[in-house]
Amino acid sequence: MRASRYLIATLKETPADAEVISHQLMLRAGMTRKLAAGLYTWLPMGLRVLRKVERIVREEMDKSGAQEVLMPAVQPAELWQESGRWEQYGGELLRLNDRHGREFCFGPTHEEVITDMVRNELKSYKELPANFYQIQTKFRDERRPRFGVMRAREFVMKDAYSFHLNQQSLDETYEVMHRTYCAIFDRLGLDYRPVQADSGSIGGSSSHEFHVLASSGEDDIVFSTESDYAANIEKAEAVAPAGDRPAASEALAEVATPDQRTIDDVATFLKVDATQTVKTLIVKAQVEEDEEGGLIALILRGDHSLNEIKAENLPGIAEPLTMATDEEIEQAVGCKPGSIGPVGLNIPVIVDRSAAHLADFVCGANKEGYHLTGVNWSRDVAIERVEDLRNVVEGDLSPCGKGTLEIRRGIEVGHIFKLGNKYSKALNATVLDEHGKTAIMEMGCYGIGVSRIVAASIEQNYDDRGIIWPDAIAPFEVAIVTLNAHKSPEVMEAAELLYTQLRQAGYDVLLDDRNERPGVKFADMELIGIPHRFVVSDRGLSAGTLEYKGRRDADKQDIAVTDALSFLV
Ligand code: ATP
Ligand code: MG
Ligand code: MG
Ligand code: MG
Repeated sequence: MRASRYLIATLKETPADAEVISHQLMLRAGMTRKLAAGLYTWLPMGLRVLRKVERIVREEMDKSGAQEVLMPAVQPAELWQESGRWEQYGGELLRLNDRHGREFCFGPTHEEVITDMVRNELKSYKELPANFYQIQTKFRDERRPRFGVMRAREFVMKDAYSFHLNQQSLDETYEVMHRTYCAIFDRLGLDYRPVQADSGSIGGSSSHEFHVLASSGEDDIVFSTESDYAANIEKAEAVAPAGDRPAASEALAEVATPDQRTIDDVATFLKVDATQTVKTLIVKAQVEEDEEGGLIALILRGDHSLNEIKAENLPGIAEPLTMATDEEIEQAVGCKPGSIGPVGLNIPVIVDRSAAHLADFVCGANKEGYHLTGVNWSRDVAIERVEDLRNVVEGDLSPCGKGTLEIRRGIEVGHIFKLGNKYSKALNATVLDEHGKTAIMEMGCYGIGVSRIVAASIEQNYDDRGIIWPDAIAPFEVAIVTLNAHKSPEVMEAAELLYTQLRQAGYDVLLDDRNERPGVKFADMELIGIPHRFVVSDRGLSAGTLEYKGRRDADKQDIAVTDALSFLV
């Protein structure tokens, strides 16, 4: 591609309404433009990246044995009524009427449509398992579209749906998808973590999310440095309003550093898997800050396994507590820090105002009647009836107590899910089994945020000059910048030759033949984030050299013209 014939829509200024770095850089590098809230046009430069992400996803999905389909974006209401989601889905579902007044929605996801296809097309267990995927535009009327394509309303998703005769077959395909996702995110060069996720309202039995680690992520994920355990912090948003969450999370991350003795201490002295403890105790977190932004209280609450404890449920306590003394704690919750809380008390953890290192907190017990203990590890640690705690954690502890827990922000780029028979049952999707009996199929579903990945990659790969694409998804892998080409036929000729050679070798090359100052061209190529750059100049040619600089390199280097190709390999 010749830059003189290509839309290089770079901007000097950072657009004021772009909060996160990826959004800023995608606009500045001329990748996307906003049409309206949550709606983005992909300019040629950005679309090349999107297509490369799609290609990697497609190749790995094909390799896994999944079959590509393409379903309509607009879906009839009847199918959603059959599954019950027409009523349940809420405000994210964009509902439409056609000219006859029939109801439709713009698909936020495709369980209903694929289940309808499969109930019509598959008849026998012999056709199972089957896994169908598509790469397609979704619409979700997000309450807060933001961060550009990261949380858009219209976005590109790869969604896949698998169908099985039995649970074992679903388990197998689920594992294949887990591995496939790792292969995809590895090829994309992302620093990511698969984490256990709540299967929540869909009611499936198992679920994992794949998170790209980045401070701009909207989810908190927790993982142990020494075991494989990793989980997301569910429903944190329900506790702290979305706007407050970044500050809260920063504070959490701060108090979680090892020398401040925090969550991992809980785990260590409870002698349970750190992350399981966190799942139980610290799934909901709220940080109170004083005017200077100092931490005055950290209030940690149990998750659903502690019966959905919410502020409203606390006996006699409507507001989160900020307490300075043992007496106040005792008064409020009926026990001293460091002593056993009364059964039926719904306060898992309260931290007092000297909480910079979580000096004091009290654990309550839940309605199911197990005792948690008051704990104070700045003095004597008293733990009793750990068994009771273990029972709550759904029996699947790997009690190792090893490792340090890290809480990091993550961007959810993928989500896999064992759906069970929720949709197949509602839509009566059956096959005949080996005995000729009708069997409802088991289902799995597997999503990847294709357009979100473009932004997530930038969150991990940038510097003060712009984006730094990994080769795998760079819009162009190589830039050839000509100096003074308009006056020097030799420069143009050498650049054209290199351009042809590189393209023949299979590289995507942008030949920057624009009649612009060198500084402008260099700045644009760096902002756009092209990983390899050659400069062709009269001075270099007279010495038989080109200048090469990798986008991450500190220095440029001269190489022989004849070495350019072999240099890249
Ligand atoms: P989130 O928690 O970020 O709202 P989700 O859990 O609602 O995402 P899923 O239903 O799991 O999303 O959809 C599969 C994938 O689609 C997600 O893992 C994410 O990468 C992507 N995705 C979801 N919503 C958006 C959006 N508004 N903009 C861009 N990508 C999205
Ligand atoms: Mg969502
Ligand atoms: Mg999610
Ligand atoms: Mg999800």
